[in-house]
Amino acid sequence: MAVMITDLCINCDACIEVCPVSAIVSEGDSPRDDWEYTYVKPEKCIECVGHAEVPACAAECPTEGCIVWDMPYTAEYNDYYVNSSDYVIGESKKRGVLTPEVSPQTYKEDISIAAREAHEAVAV
Ligand code: SF4
Ligand code: SF4
Repeated sequence: MAVMITDLCINCDACIEVCPVSAIVSEGDSPRDDWEYTYVKPEKCIECVGHAEVPACAAECPTEGCIVWDMPYTAEYNDYYVNSSDYVIGESKKRGVLTPEVSPQTYKEDISIAAREAHEAVAV
């Protein structure tokens, strides 16, 4: 990942259309049964690397502070994602569960790990 949508979300779904990799789903399509808000699939989010200077979802979001940084979706953080109750990682028929070890994603290297651990809001 990834960026994460918090419970500040008002479910306007404006972010869904602007994501270049279709990583965002509306509340009704979220794989989390306990989540009542729009959801970012960490196994798909590329932090807009190669597409935009700042994450397009956060640039579009009308709710300040709603979208925050989470850890890079890389093998180093495999256990974090696999054990997190914040995520239900998707599967592919050929490759199985798309964990960070199986399917790492790009991430913005200029965002510090401390900022990610603190779930700082994505600045736009
Ligand atoms: S940061 Fe970019 S790739 Fe990730 S969910 Fe937002 S719009 Fe999609
Ligand atoms: S644009 Fe912001 S408030 Fe609207 S659904 Fe996406 S995260 Fe939620």
